[in-house]
Amino acid sequence: MNKNTDITKVFADAPAGEPERQLYFIEQAKNVLEDIEREAGRKLTYDVVTFGCQMNARDSEKLSGILDKMGFEQTDSEDADYVIYNTCTVRENANNKVYGRLGGLGNSKKKNPLKMIALCGCMMQEENVVTKLRESYRFVDLVFGTHNIFKFPELTYRVLSGEDDMIIDIWEGTQEIVEELPVNRKFAFKSGVNIMFGCDNFCTYCIVPYVRGRERSRKPADILHEIETMAKDGVKEVMLLGQNVNSYGKGLDEKITFAELLREVEKIEGIERIRFMTSHPKDLSDELIEVMASSDKICRHMHLPLQSGSDEILKRMNRHYTKERYLSLVAKLREKMPDIAITTDIIVGFPGETEEDFEETIDVVEKARFDSAFTFIYSKRTGTPAASMDPGADEATVKKRFDKLLKQVQMIAAEQAATHTGEVVKVLAEQRNEHDDSLITGRMSNNSTVHFKGDVSCIGSIVDVHLDECKGFYYYGTMV
Ligand code: SAM
Ligand code: SF4
Repeated sequence: MNKNTDITKVFADAPAGEPERQLYFIEQAKNVLEDIEREAGRKLTYDVVTFGCQMNARDSEKLSGILDKMGFEQTDSEDADYVIYNTCTVRENANNKVYGRLGGLGNSKKKNPLKMIALCGCMMQEENVVTKLRESYRFVDLVFGTHNIFKFPELTYRVLSGEDDMIIDIWEGTQEIVEELPVNRKFAFKSGVNIMFGCDNFCTYCIVPYVRGRERSRKPADILHEIETMAKDGVKEVMLLGQNVNSYGKGLDEKITFAELLREVEKIEGIERIRFMTSHPKDLSDELIEVMASSDKICRHMHLPLQSGSDEILKRMNRHYTKERYLSLVAKLREKMPDIAITTDIIVGFPGETEEDFEETIDVVEKARFDSAFTFIYSKRTGTPAASMDPGADEATVKKRFDKLLKQVQMIAAEQAATHTGEVVKVLAEQRNEHDDSLITGRMSNNSTVHFKGDVSCIGSIVDVHLDECKGFYYYGTMV
């Protein structure tokens, strides 16, 4: 790497405030990169690999926007010169996946002397992970966490400038929200928008509050400004992102609820669809249901994680609602919006879950008739309260329960989907079908996927599609 640059001077001249400091380091990194590319006689490439949720996907767009500005070329191959793993740690197998793939990256570094490897995201916030990387994965160049992702330009500048040791920059937490750094959206016509960061709920199984920190809402003016800019740039659909969007506004100087924020987003010209994720059942207000029901722009989809149908388990999960309250929310949503799709997350095998507890979950699945559900086997996360609870059922029993749940969820989801066959629905055409070139893949308001014959020119538009055939969790349709 380039060791000739006067790094001390570059740092001495750097502005102290953000985002100016990071914008400055983007320019500095660009200069160093140009030198390296001149010497190598070719452009350098990057690949940001995203593990986990929508929040990570949005963070990856930010990393990618920064690398584009520096002058790297994007690829989707891990043979790239600069590979960034944006990691997840919600379940243990997410960590194992990263370690597994890192080995391969280490090998490719031996063949490419210009290769740089960075790791970031939730997994890096765990102390034992950083220790393991230090000991066994010394070829990694950069490790940073969730709180200082905005510092990526400065950290990458250091990597490019040839620092020999693994650069590790992990923060315990922050109140800082840095606005106005470049972003590279995966889709031109739709985008995620962070409305809050972190989580204060401390569900006893969940590591998110420990790795993403305290809940912080972005100021409404910043959110609205970002969406207005996106709309001018051709974005038609926004997905408002937060671990618990229903508690948006807590801690802000100005009084605003999530429902009020939605009303403001609705007014933005050019935005045709609004989605959001995730809603915690304990904070789902009547006000929000009213706003959704009266809106033409807010999509007919509510992702409402159930986790368990047993009151006893819900209590031990620290979820603050009961089975009855959850079902009453579902009933209210379906009454006000008969065409709404309700989807959920369910955990099987939480410590101490009995057969009766599990049957309560099955009972909710049957009564709520979810349009889709993500089902998980409980994964013990060190440091969370559930990790020290008595485990309860053995692995084979949990697996049997999981299979039964999955079967039930899939059967009901297919029945729910079949009820829409024959309807003409609005579909946002998103991309060419991955397996069949003559088809376009799009998304209905209720988040279902439709494949229909069409021309690439309709990508990015909302078109009318007749749902010809239901294939369980997706449809084949015809544009009308
Ligand atoms: N904030 C959202 C909420 O309130 O539900 C979801 C965040 S979490 C990243 C996504 C899902 O992962 C959760 O809804 C839960 O079902 C699942 N999950 C979290 N921790 C888990 C664990 N230790 N084992 C299994 N699944 C887990
Ligand atoms: Fe985890 Fe609960 Fe926060 Fe969701 S609300 S991120 S499940 S602690």
